Amino acid sequence: MVDVGEEEVLLRVHRSGSGWKLGRLVPYRVPWREGMTVLDGLVHVQENQEPGLAFRRNCGAGRCGSCGAEVDGRPVLTCSTRLPRGGDVTVEPMRTFPVIRDLVVDLSGQWVTAGRVPLFEAVDDGDDFWRIPREDVSDVAEFRRCIECFLCQDVCHVLREHGQDFVGPRFVTLLASLDMHPRDAGDRSGFSAESGLELCNVTRCCQETCPEEIRITDEAIIPEKERLISRKDPVARLLKRVLGR
Ligand code: SF4
Ligand code: SF4
Repeated sequence: MVDVGEEEVLLRVHRSGSGWKLGRLVPYRVPWREGMTVLDGLVHVQENQEPGLAFRRNCGAGRCGSCGAEVDGRPVLTCSTRLPRGGDVTVEPMRTFPVIRDLVVDLSGQWVTAGRVPLFEAVDDGDDFWRIPREDVSDVAEFRRCIECFLCQDVCHVLREHGQDFVGPRFVTLLASLDMHPRDAGDRSGFSAESGLELCNVTRCCQETCPEEIRITDEAIIPEKERLISRKDPVARLLKRVLGR
């Protein structure tokens, strides 16, 4: 039990590496100030108490997606999460990914998956000047708000349980952003078929976690599931051709 004063906050931070084979929570008392975020608290610890504390950060304004962690078990951006006055807060790394040290996780597998998604291929209709109605790009524009924080990947229980069998919500969103682009002619059916999309049971945890409020499940996962089923099912494919949708 560590006492914490009114004008302080207690950060219990996951530490690992430096010869500690298993991670452990180390308590740090930090002076509290109005508007302080979890990231501010971590920076204070690093600058004043523990220079070796490892965590990622960049913009500090919720735009770069680099400071994701689990605060009291919830995946969040630490720069956008306030510290309560006199509070007692636990900060741990995103547990879906292997931990390199302290709060830093290994995201290299995510970039490998990103590289497997077939790129955008422009429709070849001789028209160099693209006129696209606003309503045709509204979903795609929403998907492009993604800051690649990977909090949706962290919260997804399928990824936690099945690991490599499912590419995860971030990459289904990327897939949808390309498939739904009105000027795209690319064929991503192979990637989709091998994505493990059928494992997702539409719990919407990813959607509720996304700091950019992207409707991951409703606007990306469900349409991509429908696309996958209609590709596999000849009757559905025929109906789609007859009904034109
Ligand atoms: S909706 Fe699907 S992808 Fe999103 S968290 Fe749930 S199982 Fe994972
Ligand atoms: S979809 Fe949302 S939660 Fe997932 S990586 Fe992008 S911004 Fe982060």
